[in-house]
Amino acid sequence: MKNTSNNYKTETEIPFDLEQCVAFHGHLCPGLVYGYIVAKESIKLLDIKRSIDEEIVAVCENDSCAVDGLQVMIGTTAGKGNLIVKDYGKNAYTVVNRSKEKAFRFSRITSYNYSGKNTDEFNKLEKAVSEGTANEQQRHRQKYLKAVDLFSKPFNEVFYTKEVDFSMPPYASLAPSVACAICGEMTMQTKMVEGKDGRLICITCSDTKS
Ligand SMILES: [Zn+2]
Ligand SMILES: [Zn+2]
Repeated sequence: MKNTSNNYKTETEIPFDLEQCVAFHGHLCPGLVYGYIVAKESIKLLDIKRSIDEEIVAVCENDSCAVDGLQVMIGTTAGKGNLIVKDYGKNAYTVVNRSKEKAFRFSRITSYNYSGKNTDEFNKLEKAVSEGTANEQQRHRQKYLKAVDLFSKPFNEVFYTKEVDFSMPPYASLAPSVACAICGEMTMQTKMVEGKDGRLICITCSDTKS
């Protein structure tokens, strides 16, 4: 019974806060766990609570499931403007604490290796998934095993952590909206571009024209 504090590491139990992430995201997957463990680590390193306003900012260098883990855990949300998604395809995240003027960047620098106790099963599933022969149930099981393995690993085995220069990300911008010269829809002025005739048009219209 001395393993009580590690009970969540058994396969059948998911930590309560991860369950909250799953409830928001829709399913348990490795991507969500990446965001979850990064959030947990940043809570520890930056001594933060879930962001009510914009005091915490997360910069995600991918637009994967991980983003949702961060949204739930540290309150860096799409709507508040304190979630910046840079679609670089990197499993890397920077979490900034404005009041403490501190920031950490977490990045994945090694490839994934399963280290749970279902190695044989995982390897078979992994093979089937990569060969495209896995059915839906097998794909789910593979994701599940990987997700559980990821949150059971020591954080440092999954992510490389580095304190980075704190640079204050700008607060979410508030700008007046004006009507797009083409579609007429009210658009934040700062997000508009100049059309051929010099009038302001929205991004959608500028993309459609080109
Ligand atoms: Zn997912
Ligand atoms: Zn328009």
